[in-house]
Amino acid sequence: MNRILIVEDELAISNLIKTNLYDAGYHCSCAYDGLQASNMIEKESFDLILLDIMLPKIDGYELIEYINTMEIPVIFLTAKSSVEDIVKGLKLGAEDYLTKPFEIIELLARVETVLRRYNKNARFLEIYDITIDTLSRIVKKNGVIINLTNKEYELLLMFVHNKNIALFRDRIYERIWGEEDMGASRTVDLHVQRLRKKIELEDKLVAVYKIGYRLEV
Ligand code: CA
Repeated sequence: MNRILIVEDELAISNLIKTNLYDAGYHCSCAYDGLQASNMIEKESFDLILLDIMLPKIDGYELIEYINTMEIPVIFLTAKSSVEDIVKGLKLGAEDYLTKPFEIIELLARVETVLRRYNKNARFLEIYDITIDTLSRIVKKNGVIINLTNKEYELLLMFVHNKNIALFRDRIYERIWGEEDMGASRTVDLHVQRLRKKIELEDKLVAVYKIGYRLEV
């Protein structure tokens, strides 16, 4: 399931977007200022960020520079509709730009397009001597196929998409198993241990005390 972070300080707009994206099958989280957004991006993983520009604490222009380092696509949502503003947003690395007020149907179409484009571009992922074909879901180490279960594959993908970031056990569980369950750390530990052995990255996929795991690159 694709996870989208909505960064928007106007509650009514945020709720409207959230409801519609949820109905369309996306998992949504909301941040109401730039600082809260940066904290969430640090702790959780997202597939796409809808980013308002005029935000309290840290504005969208500043925040996107941080987001770019995480390789998460961004769609700007903003009332700033001059050509100069749009060009500035796109030059800063946004995948798309939507000016308020917008039709929900247009937002959904753009979200879908950006996710499709982004996933397609990232068909092959590499990490050390491991390659992941995200279309066929084939994982190879030094050219030799490694058989991973679905959950192990999802875990590997999550770590690769969040290199050098300590991922919380409950976030991992929520993301891979799709439920919120604070007592699921044992399940995560077991799967990470098996994955580590299979991909032979015991020293790179490290446990982070009291938090979870981090893939070091
Ligand atoms: Ca705003």
